[in-house]
Amino acid sequence: MPPVFLKDLTREDLIKQLAQMGEKRFRATQLFKWLYQKGVADFSRMSDISRLSQERFALAFLPDSIRVLKTQQSRDGTEKLLYGLHDGQSMEGVLIPDGRRMTLCVSTQVGCKMGCAFCRTARMGWIRDLTAGEIVDQVCQASKRLGRGSRITNVVFMGMGEPLDNLDNVRKAIEILGYPEGFSFSHRRMTVSTCGLVDKLNGLGSWTKRFRLAVSLNAADNETRSRLMPVNQRFPIEKLLAACRKITLRNRERVTFEYILLKGVNDGLKDAKALARLIAPLKAKVNLIPFNETEDIPFKRTGEKEMLAFQEVLLNAHLTAMIRDSRGRDISAACGQLSSEETGSGPLR
Ligand code: SAH
Repeated sequence: MPPVFLKDLTREDLIKQLAQMGEKRFRATQLFKWLYQKGVADFSRMSDISRLSQERFALAFLPDSIRVLKTQQSRDGTEKLLYGLHDGQSMEGVLIPDGRRMTLCVSTQVGCKMGCAFCRTARMGWIRDLTAGEIVDQVCQASKRLGRGSRITNVVFMGMGEPLDNLDNVRKAIEILGYPEGFSFSHRRMTVSTCGLVDKLNGLGSWTKRFRLAVSLNAADNETRSRLMPVNQRFPIEKLLAACRKITLRNRERVTFEYILLKGVNDGLKDAKALARLIAPLKAKVNLIPFNETEDIPFKRTGEKEMLAFQEVLLNAHLTAMIRDSRGRDISAACGQLSSEETGSGPLR
């Protein structure tokens, strides 16, 4: 049997594998603790596992799914990581320190199919989905970059790719990241951001209670949104909001709508009013995202004054609306600036 990528396995998968090998199920707990709590991926260092079992595991399992190829530090403390995959592909992620929080932005695909006009990842096209292990291992590898006493507190699925376009693997990763014997991330500490794949949203059922949901809206009318986000031709705003309204939320939880402000495109006061009307009936809040300009992408950032005026309209309509400060712009690690530099498949700066 070819070796299995260990981080692809949910606890149930792992228990099954162990049973086939004649190993006891408590080994699953031990392995989870070593991998995800202690950050040890070398079987010979797993001191509560017998030498014999260590050797069998080393033959049966590959403990790492990805590795860090390169890192880049931003002036604001943000760090961009370039990860290498087993088949020679690569992808990026971002570590964002923010007060007591340490957020990791993870990718879910190499490239993306969605083709949003403002996004740099879209320019690469879609290369492939990431496996559950490749998603989970981003948290392991990024954790190793942190000093003692510091750990990743939040995971946002906002890196390269569309998470709902790789739903099975994203769900599996969320399950693995949530185990108490592992990283133990609660639903409050994992946010999945989607461009609005309504069929997938509708199929989530009570799964939506296992993470926070963010929806990239980016426009308040279908004409503008379809121009910016081709996915809107398939799932227009009414369908998207209807799906959001049906989502099972926990008490007091709200859906976050993300809205990139693009100069002269969607940032006028009439856009703000239209947005307020759309969102008002929902349990929702709005994150306004200043556009991160990148070469080859023909949009401009909205000015400070106009941003505040836009926000004011939403606040006056009694909506929660934040302007999200974008981090890591100097190293192209901010929203919409990720691509895999070393695959040679995307236009480079
Ligand atoms: N596919 C998912 C997750 C990746 S994009 C989604 O669409 O939500 C994560 C966020 O970055 C989205 O809200 C997107 O609208 C925003 N974004 C993309 N390109 C950007 C750019 N150039 N500047 C600012 N935000 C951008």
